[in-house]
Amino acid sequence: MDFSSRLIQWYDLNGRSLPWRDTRDPYHIWISEIILQQTRMDQGISYYLSFLKTFPDVFHLASATEEQVLRLWQGLGYYSRARNLHQAAREVVELHGGVLPAHSTDLARLKGIGPYTAAAIASMAFGEAIPAVDGNVYRVLSRIFAVDQSIDTSRGKKVFLDLATNLLPEDQPGAFNQALMDFGSMVCKPATPLCYSCIFQHECLARQRGNVKMYPFRSRKARGRERYFYYFLFRTKDHDGLPVFFVQQRTGNDIWRNMYEFPLLESDHALPESELLNHSWWEALGVEAGGLVFSGSAIHQKHQLTHQTIQAWFYQVEITDSSLNILQKHFQLTRPDLFEDLPKPRLVERFYRVVNFC
Ligand code: SF4
Repeated sequence: MDFSSRLIQWYDLNGRSLPWRDTRDPYHIWISEIILQQTRMDQGISYYLSFLKTFPDVFHLASATEEQVLRLWQGLGYYSRARNLHQAAREVVELHGGVLPAHSTDLARLKGIGPYTAAAIASMAFGEAIPAVDGNVYRVLSRIFAVDQSIDTSRGKKVFLDLATNLLPEDQPGAFNQALMDFGSMVCKPATPLCYSCIFQHECLARQRGNVKMYPFRSRKARGRERYFYYFLFRTKDHDGLPVFFVQQRTGNDIWRNMYEFPLLESDHALPESELLNHSWWEALGVEAGGLVFSGSAIHQKHQLTHQTIQAWFYQVEITDSSLNILQKHFQLTRPDLFEDLPKPRLVERFYRVVNFC
């Protein structure tokens, strides 16, 4: 029995039961693939179900506002996925009459759909014979066949794509791609592969050579960037005695674009308290930091993104009427019930949940 038959047989017996596997609807498969990028499976399933409940088809998604889409996406992170998905839904409606293209080449022209996602949708929904090559596939194939090409070079990528194309059975491309995904997640795992129960344990070259963990090869070390965020929850009470505070909407091409957060001082290095209070940010606001009343000590959170680590500190500041007037020139005043409905990064949400507004 050849590689793909054994793999698909294993998948038939052991594959995960997932809601989008009961359908060949390309919209459903598309949504699942986008949600599952950078997301744990258990977390992704609940988002997938609520996303389809709110936007049951591409027309509903296309006619939503970006804010509605971001709100539903909240907590999943990597918000450019949601923005691209939304934009692509509009393209599908405007350019394709609401019908997703059936070929991977046309799918890959849509915003946010790369070669992997295009291949996954085309193979699963339309039966196109194309491999969907992602990190799981690199790992499994590099180990079994001892491929020593680096997966972060174009030459290495081509070697893996050719290998996967040769292994792919033309009559079952969707099952093959899903089987490789599951096999990589459930058996040939990154740090703890289950070699002792693996169906390929006798053929796997990396296992025979005793160097499983060396695969897949990379030519470069991932570079990370550290950022230092100092958030200030400037709070007071309105004329009715109800809590109000300031927020801002992120702009530009940085992370979390269009989402809401508290006023932020960002630095490329950690700031000792004296440096924080004398930072030019305060001068630009027109606020004398030394005269502010901070309540409690700062809450620190570390937030890991793919290529950056954010070290964040949250300060709560009780403000006077004069500070209120100054801050109003820069930020938007809001109430807890209104802020609830705004899309916000998970980092901000986590802190917000522990704030006591009484
Ligand atoms: S034997 Fe181990 S390393 Fe090789 S394919 Fe199986 S799980 Fe992966």
